[in-house]
Amino acid sequence: MFRSVNPATGAEIATYPELTPAELDAKLARAAAAFRHWRTTPLEERTALLARIADRFEVERERLARMASLEMGKTLATALAEVDKCAAGFRVYAEHGPAMLAPKRQSLTGGGTAELHWLPIGPVLAIMPWNFPYWQAVRFLAPAIMAGNVGLLKHASIVQGVAGLLEEMVTAAGAPDGLFQNLAIKSSAVAGVIADDRIAAVTLTGSEAAGASVAEAAGRALKKVVLELGGSDPFIVMPSADLDAAVAQAVKARIQNSGQSCICAKRMIVHADVYDAFMARFSDGMRAVKAGDPFDPAIDMGPLSSFEQRDTVLEQLEEAKSLGATLLFGGEPTADGAYLSAGILTDVPLDSPLMHEEIFGPIAMVFRAADIDEAIRIANDIPFGLGSSVWTRDEGEQRRFVRDIEAGMTAINQMLASSPEAPFGGIKRSGHGRELGPYGMHEFMNLKTVMYA
Ligand code: NDP
Repeated sequence: MFRSVNPATGAEIATYPELTPAELDAKLARAAAAFRHWRTTPLEERTALLARIADRFEVERERLARMASLEMGKTLATALAEVDKCAAGFRVYAEHGPAMLAPKRQSLTGGGTAELHWLPIGPVLAIMPWNFPYWQAVRFLAPAIMAGNVGLLKHASIVQGVAGLLEEMVTAAGAPDGLFQNLAIKSSAVAGVIADDRIAAVTLTGSEAAGASVAEAAGRALKKVVLELGGSDPFIVMPSADLDAAVAQAVKARIQNSGQSCICAKRMIVHADVYDAFMARFSDGMRAVKAGDPFDPAIDMGPLSSFEQRDTVLEQLEEAKSLGATLLFGGEPTADGAYLSAGILTDVPLDSPLMHEEIFGPIAMVFRAADIDEAIRIANDIPFGLGSSVWTRDEGEQRRFVRDIEAGMTAINQMLASSPEAPFGGIKRSGHGRELGPYGMHEFMNLKTVMYA
């Protein structure tokens, strides 16, 4: 059984039954049958379905957003924005998907031509987290539907209400039976699903531990896997930056979603020349962050997604202090829910185990760098390589950051955010493969080389 608990109050919202082995088997059979049909559908049928799903998200936006706020605590305003982004995402693939699938011809040196065709591969299992419970699933699903694949979702245990609504939206849009199904299963059942012959590939967004376990199961079954794991993204501020803009975005980039985004800016690395000015304003900004009822439009962030998640961050703060770091302020549980006030850590030793962890809560680490070389060294001195944000008006410095920061994404003079068109993913222990854009769609396709004389 799954229990949804409101992290703002601790009250139980609902319980959801777990699939029995026979029910799970029936869903896998439906997925396989759906693929036999869907793989042959004309592209116009796929784009029309994507547009109808977008319509459902728009019509139902309030109901969808409320469920996310209730189950994992994000503010209603950000939940509505997430639902709107999903609708936009479906429309992007409806509009641009066919071009991403267009065959390409090339002549061969030995004579003749090769034509490259993108073909679907089958039912794909998506294991998704609770932090953006709609968007994480949609950024897998919209390209998958366009590609001619079939989707199966193993969503995080704490957002089974959202998982059910996702399936409801796709069904209500008139998707063929079995095209997209929610699998209400525990993570212990995932390896068995990956091993099943009816599953073609697997994608996961979540922690390193979950990623390693899923990659191991996919490796045993020789199946393709895309992993989007954690990050500890640097946010680098150089002397030529617009400091007011940098500070405002640094606060937002750290506390968005109560600090629970893989691409939250988690480490502010500030050039010594502007360190004191940045710290004064950044401290003011972080102190001013208001945590409270997610349905109150006047607050900046809700509780963390669960009491367990808050306790994990509290343990990390204790660990940080024991390693010699200074908690300037914040990191305090407030009120009855899973709340945690925004805070700042300084003096975190660069060789400490904390540098190998993702702090999934509204706590920023701040570092001073003597010059660009040291800033890049600190930025790269972690096992992760997901995103990054760099603030400088110097074009030479911008080129250095693009070339030398070890990350899948670098945003210049803005905080990093995902967009339905832009490839998303990381390197090192942040995972491999890409989601979104043609590169994301092609991860789960068969590139067939067709030779003509
Ligand atoms: P998990 O990685 O455990 O959960 C993500 C998804 O993976 C969920 O659907 C979960 O299912 C599933 N899962 C977990 N373990 C396995 C497994 N062994 N085999 C198959 N599926 C599995 O994240 P948590 O919720 O436990 O959060 C822990 C930490 O992970 C956070 O503090 C944060 O650092 C990181 N995280 C990163 C995210 C990101 O966007 N990069 C998103 C979420 C978490 P179930 O819920 O049933 O366990």
